Amino acid sequence: MHLPISISLLTLLPDLFGFSTEVLAKKSCRVQPGDPGFPSVQQWSQLSAQVGGRLVQVVPSAKFCHSLPAGNCTQDQWTSTTFRSTIPGAMDAYNWEQDYSSNPPSLCFQNGTTCDQGNVPLYAINASSGFDIQAGVKFAAKHNLRVAIKASGHDYLGRSTAKNSLLLWTRNLRNISFTGHFVRGGKDYGSAVTVGSGAPLNAIYTATKAVGKMFVGGTAATVVAAGGYVQGAGHSAFSPLLGLAADNALEFQVVVASGDIKTANEFENPDLFYALRGGGAGSWGVIISATLRTYPIFNATQHVVVVFAPTNASIGTIMTLHAKHIFDWDSKRAGQYFYAINGGSQGNFAAFSTYFPNSTADDAAAAMKPLLDDVQAMNFTILSQNTTVALANDLVFSPDDQLGVDAILGSRLIPADAYRNDPVSIGNSYTKLLELGAAQIIGHLVAGGKVAENANIDSAVNPKWRTAKAHVVAAVGWGDSTPLSVVEFIKESMTNQAVPILANMTGQADSGAYSNEADVREPNFQTTFFGGGARYQKLLQVKRKYDPNDLFIVAAGVGSEDWDAAGLCRVH
Ligand SMILES: Cc1cc2nc3c(=O)[nH]c(=O)nc-3n(C[C@H](O)[C@H](O)[C@H](O)COP(=O)(O)OP(=O)(O)OC[C@H]3O[C@@H](n4cnc5c(N)ncnc54)[C@H](O)[C@@H]3O)c2cc1C
Repeated sequence: MHLPISISLLTLLPDLFGFSTEVLAKKSCRVQPGDPGFPSVQQWSQLSAQVGGRLVQVVPSAKFCHSLPAGNCTQDQWTSTTFRSTIPGAMDAYNWEQDYSSNPPSLCFQNGTTCDQGNVPLYAINASSGFDIQAGVKFAAKHNLRVAIKASGHDYLGRSTAKNSLLLWTRNLRNISFTGHFVRGGKDYGSAVTVGSGAPLNAIYTATKAVGKMFVGGTAATVVAAGGYVQGAGHSAFSPLLGLAADNALEFQVVVASGDIKTANEFENPDLFYALRGGGAGSWGVIISATLRTYPIFNATQHVVVVFAPTNASIGTIMTLHAKHIFDWDSKRAGQYFYAINGGSQGNFAAFSTYFPNSTADDAAAAMKPLLDDVQAMNFTILSQNTTVALANDLVFSPDDQLGVDAILGSRLIPADAYRNDPVSIGNSYTKLLELGAAQIIGHLVAGGKVAENANIDSAVNPKWRTAKAHVVAAVGWGDSTPLSVVEFIKESMTNQAVPILANMTGQADSGAYSNEADVREPNFQTTFFGGGARYQKLLQVKRKYDPNDLFIVAAGVGSEDWDAAGLCRVH
């Protein structure tokens, strides 16, 4: 019989070749502290010397704060993403720094008296050049180390931190340069900006404004355009006018798993170029810089209105009205963030922040009027309403983001057809999500228009973006004192209850989601984030070509199904 023969052979093999089954098993795991083969102090010192002393030991953000002269961070520092981005071990949603599942849990809370390392990397290379990244990649590959890549630490899926890893930290790669004519393969793509993979959005908005240009970026201060943002797709309030960030990416410089720097564009390494535009953050290599299309600067009007919605049912009613009016702004190519905020005993709020490119304040107010008339006709109170006219860059510029929280997300790309066919069901879903305990439901009208028109671009962008009208996110948070069993309950509720409600909103059996703002436990992420089927197979092929040993594994990323949740041991 086949089976007993295999077993007897396996038991003999270790003796024959001089190593034990334990070592064989370990071979499929990353090398961790205490394992044979973990780099010695001397080897770490050599790496440090190679990168000019920029190898640093990493600690959780709370421990970093305790080490400051004041003995702690101020609350303003703790919640400032600009401040947090200077801490190598910090994640903005710092629940990702915790290892809730180890036994005992390995935790480090904001004002905790004890502090364990959790899921925070061991060492980081604070890179100042592509060479530093190359050195780190080669060192990690040679010693079979777990690698994490981080630019800002914004990631809502925790993909920029990893237990027992070497962190390749690109925050200080901040170059920004412009060209009037980006030419490759004899093709002139027009004006473009090349940004380092540490340059935050607010720095790029400032720089583009100074040269009379605009680019496709998000509404955030410290999100890094050439980091996770563009690899996920990258949406903007101006996407209905200009497309997604990935649609506007022209070239990348990337350190791949071999340690080589590759140029990826339409002509050179086009398969890598395909994957880097929408194929998911952190799975392909370490981006050093990206070149993004720029546009002549333009004015826009931001219209913000806040509505009081006493009950969860009233949020549902308002969001049904909104769903009926969501096509009102198409001709203006407006983008919009629309919020349902759970105010608890104070009642709820709905808010709509709409960006009208090349429009006056009067145009914007007129475009919003039909929705607001309907809202008032239902006796809801408008608490405030205002408009700001400014350069587009200034409207989406933000000096800082406020985080430093424990939070997770779940999301879906809601097709235009769902809004057309069943606005009432969309409104009802909002009520259900609030009743489930969602703190906020954040809608992003950042699709349609140019995003739909760009369906012909051959990239890994989830095709659901091309038929979507909006990206809707449910957010839930908790405090450090929340019992761990409740934290787990919250996570399970997100995956098993909130996300199915969002999926139901789509009216599709194979609904899609934006991989950068989503539930990391998404059960069928290959389809939900990346389109599944042949599209996912193509991404796997690119992965095998450029990263044959899976050096760059992130949760719910391409190839991650072969690894355990921590990315430390192969499961297949
Ligand atoms: C306040 C806030 C506002 C946001 N606004 C928007 C928005 O308007 N539009 C939008 O589309 N998204 C938005 N996002 C989501 C954002 O796109 C994601 O959080 C994204 O992952 C951030 O990328 P990052 O590189 O800045 O973050 P990080 O946490 O540093 O990294 C995120 C992922 O990218 C990988 N990565 C980082 N740097 C590199 C690199 N150099 N090379 C390869 N991989 C790298 C990491 O490994 C990780 O997987 C927002 C997030 C926050 C917190």
